[in-house]
Order: sequence, then structure tokens, then C-alpha cells
Amino acid sequence: MGALFYVRLIGDTAGTLLQLFWLAVILAHRRRRNLERVLFFLCFSLFLYYSGSLLVVNAQIHYQVAPPALKTFATLMIGAALCLLPPLLVQIHVEYARIRGSLGSKGLRRAVLAAAYAPLLYFGLAVYPRLVAAGRLDFLFPASSFGSGYGLWLAASMAFAAAWQVRFAAVALRAERFYHSAFAVLLAAGGALALYLHLGGGPADPLLRAWLSASFVLLPIAPLAVLAYQVHKFRFLQIGGQKNLLYAVSAMFLAILYLSLVRRVGIWMEPALPPEATSAILLFALLIFVEPLQRALSGRLRATLHSEVDRQQRTSSEIQEVARQGSLFALTRFVEQRVKEVFGLAHVRLELGPPSSPEATGDDGSYAQRSFSLRRGADLIGTLYAEPYGALLSGETLAALDFLCEQLPGSLELCRLIEEKVQLERELAERERLALVGQMAASISHNLKNPLGSIKTILQVQLESPDLPERLRGETRLILEEVSRLSAKLNQLLQFSRPSVRADQSAAHCDARAVGEEAAGILRHEAASRGIRLETEWPESPLHVAASREALRDILANLLVNALEAVPASGRVQLRIAREAGSALLTLEDDGPGIPPEISARITQPFFTTKAQGTGLGLAIVSRRVAECGGRLDWQSPLKDGRGTRFQVTLPLGPEDARKEKGES
Ligand code: ADP
Ligand code: MG
Repeated sequence: MGALFYVRLIGDTAGTLLQLFWLAVILAHRRRRNLERVLFFLCFSLFLYYSGSLLVVNAQIHYQVAPPALKTFATLMIGAALCLLPPLLVQIHVEYARIRGSLGSKGLRRAVLAAAYAPLLYFGLAVYPRLVAAGRLDFLFPASSFGSGYGLWLAASMAFAAAWQVRFAAVALRAERFYHSAFAVLLAAGGALALYLHLGGGPADPLLRAWLSASFVLLPIAPLAVLAYQVHKFRFLQIGGQKNLLYAVSAMFLAILYLSLVRRVGIWMEPALPPEATSAILLFALLIFVEPLQRALSGRLRATLHSEVDRQQRTSSEIQEVARQGSLFALTRFVEQRVKEVFGLAHVRLELGPPSSPEATGDDGSYAQRSFSLRRGADLIGTLYAEPYGALLSGETLAALDFLCEQLPGSLELCRLIEEKVQLERELAERERLALVGQMAASISHNLKNPLGSIKTILQVQLESPDLPERLRGETRLILEEVSRLSAKLNQLLQFSRPSVRADQSAAHCDARAVGEEAAGILRHEAASRGIRLETEWPESPLHVAASREALRDILANLLVNALEAVPASGRVQLRIAREAGSALLTLEDDGPGIPPEISARITQPFFTTKAQGTGLGLAIVSRRVAECGGRLDWQSPLKDGRGTRFQVTLPLGPEDARKEKGES
């Protein structure tokens, strides 16, 4: 006994707790794949094995001769574990290979698994019941009770596993390659040891034999412990960090060992002291350690807290940094990405504004997702949804997310403000640029207007002179037309670039009937020359509208020109001005081709035109003037048989008419 006994005690305790840890981790992992299921059973078998052995080891402390019931129970556990371990070892490698896509056909997989499980029939159904019934298990090296055939089975499984690990190592990334190689070496060594102990009979010296078998038995602890560490440290296998569980398991490990020590020392001291007294003394002795333990623990806790706070602060300042770039969209994506990485979550979604309806979330199977409200004062400004890989968010993550969600509203607000500021600055710059362009256009048009006017007058005089040769007459008329067109365009450009006269707009008013008659009068001649019927309909009395004469002239002239340009020869254009429901209604109808629906939304944009010679400014001017007067512009097209357009301008009445209107009603 002696040292070996303690090695077994510590090893079995560690093995039992490690398997418990694994079982807890796997159970918490909601999306279980086959691999995890097999791993679960593998760990469960190991758990049975180690806890059975632990039972036996502890019984050795307590009893001279272990009671038969305990022996049977331990045999049940250990025997079951031994039967299941070799095939599970094979299956987990097969599953892992399948996930990696390095396993060929389904048939091959089935054959391998069948071969691995076949001996289970013999050992599980024939040997195991016999052993249990006889209660004869060599607890020091239980596998030997199953006979040498079992050793062959076990060694073959381990060799198979080792071969797969070599293959995994060959294709793995650098970090993983080390583990796969280590596993391969361990498994190969284990397989060789199994062969040596079972078939070769092992060393003659019973003590050496016992040591060898104990180390063989404790072999799986190392890789599983390393794996647990990896899971914890690198959030490997997509199983979230389980720090608390790790602490709990370690504490339990120490507690169990200490209790065993208490019992053991109690037996030693029995000649001098009753065991109860020794236990009491040893348990009280713990109190001596409370202080240093507390200090050690508090240091550890503080370090954990520090690193936690550090991590939080780093995340927060990163978020703040992104917030300063002033794009809410980018910030949202960044927060989702970062929180997901930092906390090892499966899904993170940040929604701004009021929460979406409950049925919009939740029924995509994500029942484990938790939502955190982001508040500013009493207002809910957004929600953070977090979905863990496992079934639950751990307490640490919850607390950290709560903390983060207290900080987030500040960053979001900052980001929003910056975004608004940037937007405003951009708009201002754009407006300045447009103003500059407008000024330039105005100055150019203004400077061209006068010379064009002179050219026009000279040409008109020339046309009237009888001296002009007939040959030049046609060309002169052509030039005159072009010049008129040019000055009309310049006129539009001037109208467009004229700053709004909003300030005195409120006071401005004019008689819509007079302006309408004037505008129609100017164009009537042109309409007649193209054979277009221009029909007009005026109100009986003057109709005062709250718009300046210039504004109304711009509106009517541009609409009229468009209508005249749209209709074919012998078409019809109708201008109606009427009083209606407390405002003035200007209607312009034509029977031209109409406005295709796909461009209808764009016709008022500056410079949008479908005409080869168009400026695209007419309707832009109209809609701007109408807006300046506080009116409304509508249009309908087509009107009937897929043709015709109707523009309607609603303008507020001027002060006089508005008063009259009130008096009437
Ligand atoms: P422009 O007349 O220089 O093209 P506008 O801003 O006056 O610019 O008009 C923009 C576009 O709206 C025109 O190119 C034309 O496609 C369409 N449009 C305007 N008025 C009419 C109308 N009465 N009938 C058909 N299309 C029209
Ligand atoms: Mg036009």
C-alpha cells in the first residue's frame, strides 16, 4: 500500500470529479451533435470506473474486509465501464473523423463500429454477469479479471484511436497538431501497456505490476484534464467558459481528499486517540488555514475581478472608439461582433428603438436567448439579445452583459450626436456648394441676357427691313428662334438660382386671374402657330393668392410650357383657375402622351429631363415656388386612354380673399 494507495486515492478522486465536470459541461451544451453524445457516454463510463474505484479505495481506509454489498456495487460500476470503454473509444474517433470529413463511406463506418462493438456481446453478456455474481474483481487491476481477450480488445481499440490521432495531427492546424500528436503517443503507449499487462503477463514483481496498472488506469485523466483546460481557456469546442464550475470542482476535489486524510490519520492515531477526536482536531485545524486561505482566495478573486473589469473596460473603450466614428450602423455591427467574441456567445443582436414584438423573436428555436434592455433615464432606447451556445448564460456573463448594457446607451447617444453633426456639416457644405453654383449661373445668365436681347432686337429690325435679301430671310428667322430659345433657357436658370424670397413672402400677394391671363397671353400666339387649342377658365372676380407675382408667373409659365411641349399639333391644353374650399386651385390639363409611372417620382428633381433640349429645371422651379408659398403641387397621369396629364397647384388665399372667405362661411 503506502504511496500507491495515495496515488490511487488522488487519481480516482480527480478522475471522478473531472468526469463530473465533463458531464456537466456537455449537458449544458444545448446543440449536441453525435460527437458530444459519444463523448458524454465515454465520460460517463470513465465516471463509473473512477467512482467505483474511489469507493473501493475509501472502503480500504475504513474496513478491514470490505462488505460484500459494497464489493458487488463497485464491481457493477467498474465492470460496466470496462465493457463500454473500448467501443466508445473507437466510436468517438469515428465521429470526430466524420465531422472532419475524413471518413470515407457510410458502409465502412458501420463496419468499423460493428467490429468495435461485437466483443461487447461476449464480455457484456457472458463475462460481466459472471464477475458480478461471483463478486470477484481484482480491484487493483480490474481489467485483468476479464481475461486476456479483453486486453486484446482494449489494445486494438487504442491502437485504432492512436492511428486516427496520427491522421488528425497530419491535417490539423499548428495549435491542434500538438494535442493530436500527444494523444497519439499516449494512446499508443496505453495500447502497448495493455498488451504487455494482459497478454505478456506483466512484470513478475507484484509491486511494479501494481504501479504499472495504476498508471494505466489513471492514463485518461491527463488528456481529459488538458482538454478541460483548453475548453476553459480558449472556449474551445464552442462550450462557453465554465469558470465557476471549474472552481467548484477543484474545491470539491480538495474537500474529498481532505476528508480521506482525516479518516486515515484517525486510524493511525487510534491507539492514542479515539478517531472522532482526531477528526475534530483535523477539522478544526482547518480554521488555522482559513486566514491564509482567505488571503490567497481574495487575491485570486481580486485578480479575476481585475481581469474581468479590464476586459470590460477594454471592450467599452473599443465601443466608444467606434462610436466616435459617428455611424450608428457600424457601431451596432461592431457591438454585436465584439460582444459575441468576448463572451463566447452563439448569437448577439442589438436592436435600436422600441423592442420588436415578441413573436418576431423567440420562435426561431432560440428559447435560450436573453434580452437586455438599454435605457436612458426612463426611455427604452434599444435591446441586446444574447444567445449562448449552452442552455444558459453563466452568472459571470450575465453580470458582465448587465454592466455593458449600462454603458452602451452613452456610446450610442454619442454616436448618434456625432452622426447628426456630420450629417449637418455635409448638408451645409452641399448647400454652400449649390449656392455658389447658383450664383455663378445667375451671373452668367445675367451677363448673357443683355447681349442676347440686343441680338434679338437687331434681327427683328432686319427681318422687317425690305432690303433683306429673300435668301437670308429664312436663315435670319432661324437664328431668331434659336436666340429666343436660348434666352428662355437662361431665364429658367435665373429663376432657378434666384434665392427664395421667403422673408417677405408672407406679405406678398397677387391676383391669380391677372397673372394667369398674362401668362396665357404670352404663349397663346405660339400655341396657335402650332395649331394647339389653349383653353382657359377664369374665376368671375379677381382671386388673390398668397404668392408674389414673380412666383406665380414662374409656376404658371413653366407648367404651361411643359404642357405645350407635351401635346402634339392640334392637341389641347386647358388652364383653369378657381376658388375652392378656402384656397385657390390652378389646374393645367393636356392631352399629351402622359408621364410614365416609373419617372413620375423624379420629374421635380433639378436637371431631370426626358427631352433632348430640356433643362430639367421647369418642374424643379414650380415645386420650389409652390413650397415657398406654402401651397401644394399634385399631378395625375395618365388621365384616360393612357394619355394626358393634369397638374394641380393649391395655393393659400391672399389676406383679402381669406377674410372674405371667412365672412361668407
Ligand atoms: P424639362 O421640361 O426641361 O424637361 P421639367 O422639369 O419642366 O424639365 O420637366 C421634367 C420632365 O417631366 C420632362 O422632361 C417630362 O418628361 C416630364 N413632364 C413634365 N410635364 C409634362 C407633361 N405635361 N406631360 C408629359 N411629361 C411631362
Ligand atoms: Mg419644362
